[in-house]
Amino acid sequence: MIELSDRLNAMEESATIAMSRKSRELRAEGKDVISLSLGEPDFDTPDFIKDAAVQAMKDNFTTYTPVPGYEDLRQAISNKFKRDNGLNYEPNQIVVSTGAKQSLANIVLSVVNNGDEVIIPAPYWVSYLEIVKVSEGVPVIVNAGIENDFKITPAQLEAAITPKTKLMMFSTPCNPTGSVYSKEELRALADVIKKYPNLVVISDEIYEHINFTSKHSSLAQFEDVYEQIVTVNGVSKAWAMTGWRLGYIGASKQIADACTKIQGQFTSGTCSITQKAAIAAMDADPVVLKDMIGAFESRRLLVLNALEKIEGVKTNIPEGAFYVFPDISYFIGKSVNGKVMNTGSDLCMYLLEHANVALVTGEAFGDSNCIRISYAASEETLTEAMSRIKGALEKLK
Ligand code: PMP
Ligand code: GLU
Repeated sequence: MIELSDRLNAMEESATIAMSRKSRELRAEGKDVISLSLGEPDFDTPDFIKDAAVQAMKDNFTTYTPVPGYEDLRQAISNKFKRDNGLNYEPNQIVVSTGAKQSLANIVLSVVNNGDEVIIPAPYWVSYLEIVKVSEGVPVIVNAGIENDFKITPAQLEAAITPKTKLMMFSTPCNPTGSVYSKEELRALADVIKKYPNLVVISDEIYEHINFTSKHSSLAQFEDVYEQIVTVNGVSKAWAMTGWRLGYIGASKQIADACTKIQGQFTSGTCSITQKAAIAAMDADPVVLKDMIGAFESRRLLVLNALEKIEGVKTNIPEGAFYVFPDISYFIGKSVNGKVMNTGSDLCMYLLEHANVALVTGEAFGDSNCIRISYAASEETLTEAMSRIKGALEKLK
């Protein structure tokens, strides 16, 4: 056996990907498993985007691309940042990558040295922690509880900052809680951030369009912290393009150049055809997403109503993304047929094995009291899943 690196051994497999793999395997064995584990829109990529891809192939956009992305795509992203977010990023401040996941890895690898502290408000998206570990950073978890709608306060942020702090990373709308930071809440965080000019903050806004209650607000809108913020976004969620693999950042020229340098050694520019298709997505009026957002909103209501009927379950009201992150700690310590639920992960496995519903344990997102339900599925599927979950939870005594 080859001895693998300490770096690799210290890293966990992505829990979201592991759960979706497990449900695929169970389905292949003939089990009727409903998977609400992966955060993946169940819509098709819009035709106008597919048409742009076909045209790109016909026009022979099939060779290596500039590492940070085609100039016309970066111009389209620059226009999008201005139009949707009021942000000024010139094309040379934009780097296109193979998914927002790679964008995140590029940034962390660009700014974090061995031993640097990285503040991660919990609940956080699974990959944040592992990307920081691989980069030899030290994750500093700041817990934002359900009582504060899973959002951290400026005082919590400030208390976590030490001379070793290099980076902070968070998402709004948040995966896994659906929480959305308002403009006022972001301004209050910016008041802390500006006091520490060496602190870099990743604002992951990949769910910006899936927001049910307010207009999306970007942290980089505030001039006094603009240089410190790296805005991350991508086409996977809003445009149902998870398999196309394209994410992007807007950042200071210094960080954009650093990410380009790293990417030039790892992957080069992302897929040429995807890039041309993404121009169509960037140029489109986000109004075309109205139906999809409406569908997510009624599914959210369906799931929240179903959870309300299960004794002991607590939830916040997620304002965006397509996840609900209920607190199921009431069931910890309960058992069925002699099997005790000691952790949220036990409960997750129980629901998979006995209710045939795949969810993701809150432990993977830094809150073991919770469990993540992705409601990117049809109402019919969600109704069936919620009824199975209720039946299985009610068996626990
Ligand atoms: N950030 C968040 C918060 C996510 O949920 C995801 C998962 N899609 C990503 C980044 C990465 O997205 P992708 O690599 O598909 O662009
Ligand atoms: N971001 C999605 C999720 O949280 C997709 C899975 C992944 O990229 O890890 O489920």
